[in-house]
Amino acid sequence: MMILYDDQFKKREDVRIDIEDRAYQFGDGIYEVIRVYDGKPFYLKEHLERLEKSAKKIRLNLPYSLDELEDRLNQLIKQNDFTQGNLYLQVSRGTAPRNHAFPKNSAPLLIAYTQPAERPVKEQTEGIRAITAEDIRWLWCDVKSLNLLGAVLAKQEAHDKHCKEAIFIRDGIVTEGSSTNLFMVKDGMLLTHPADHFILHGITRKITLQLADQLQIPVSEKKFGKESLFDADEIFITSTTMEICPVVEVDGKTIGDGCPGPLTRRLQEAFKRLIPSKTEA
Ligand code: PLP
Repeated sequence: MMILYDDQFKKREDVRIDIEDRAYQFGDGIYEVIRVYDGKPFYLKEHLERLEKSAKKIRLNLPYSLDELEDRLNQLIKQNDFTQGNLYLQVSRGTAPRNHAFPKNSAPLLIAYTQPAERPVKEQTEGIRAITAEDIRWLWCDVKSLNLLGAVLAKQEAHDKHCKEAIFIRDGIVTEGSSTNLFMVKDGMLLTHPADHFILHGITRKITLQLADQLQIPVSEKKFGKESLFDADEIFITSTTMEICPVVEVDGKTIGDGCPGPLTRRLQEAFKRLIPSKTEA
């Protein structure tokens, strides 16, 4: 497998990360996960624009332009003969003697690689179980930062309880999942947390809102409390890797009738129509 390392293509075994790379020591960097269907990156421009926004917010200069990056990512897909899975991309602030403040002379390091993955069809058809967890993350959740410890601990707690996702609660408010955005349906209305600094502005969230608009499903981007989860008719999560995935149980309590709900299924169908038709299940 070839890796995009800085601006070269290298074999994975030839790539070396310095012990003083700031991503490694401080989590000082940003990333993106982009889905590839049928050899084509899905909503690539949106992902690269978000990468640029994250970079600006943490005062990191991207090593090359978004057009150049797009070119190189497409080259990487070709070189690896990659058809389906995830394209992972990260930019660190580079390597310098360890010191919290930004180094004066360090070049940001960009790496990208491909990772084959199936679509999570079983989860999408049957729905998943989730827990709620306190949102202990920092307050710039709109930055796709490499600091993922809050998400890692919450996801592990979910796995320990045989659940697939942890739904974050901050000051009684439902924010998002540990690696997904969260929607609920109540009386025909779709509700989700507003796109502010408390959540990642998910690309799949945005696509879902566009689909809801096309399907004339009313939407409210307003905060709601943890208790309303248990009163929801339907709940689903969205992300690049999970697409639109129903949540049928939270903290051991059944949501709706315990099956993926009708609005969730309509949105899933509409989402599927956006995916290149040659994509395998
Ligand atoms: N929220 C968090 C915290 C995430 O980590 C992710 C994706 O990794 C998402 C939401 C979903 O974002 P996207 O739809 O862009 O994959």
